[in-house]
Amino acid sequence: MNCPFCNIYKKNIVLEQGKNVFVIFSNPRLMPGHLLVIPKRHVEKISELNSEEQQELLDTVVKFQEKILDKIAVGCDIKQNYRPFQKKGGLSINHLHIHLLPRKLFDELYEKCQKFETNIFKELKTEEFEKIFKILSE
Ligand SMILES: [Zn+2]
Repeated sequence: MNCPFCNIYKKNIVLEQGKNVFVIFSNPRLMPGHLLVIPKRHVEKISELNSEEQQELLDTVVKFQEKILDKIAVGCDIKQNYRPFQKKGGLSINHLHIHLLPRKLFDELYEKCQKFETNIFKELKTEEFEKIFKILSE
């Protein structure tokens, strides 16, 4: 398996290393301080982690979000993508990782991408709500 995250924690570019989880700088990155929190075990989804690994993952995300808010930026997004439909390689890595994105008002990510999301938001209609509620409640 040729996964760039599987053995990276053995190198000295790691910001923090726990028993099951480590933190690195995203490279390429979206903005200064863009971090990745990654389980050592190669899994694709959070549900594949055992509860100890899930707890350490969440604890580490919370800890570094607070560090970012304290020292780097006034805001911080937490993001995780599960996209098995995407081709692997390049920017897409199927080893689970959680992005921590330091944010500020009208930053580059907002100006170049996210301001266009406002056009995508639509009102939640009753029939759509009822349909998806039923599916997810089963
Ligand atoms: Zn991996």
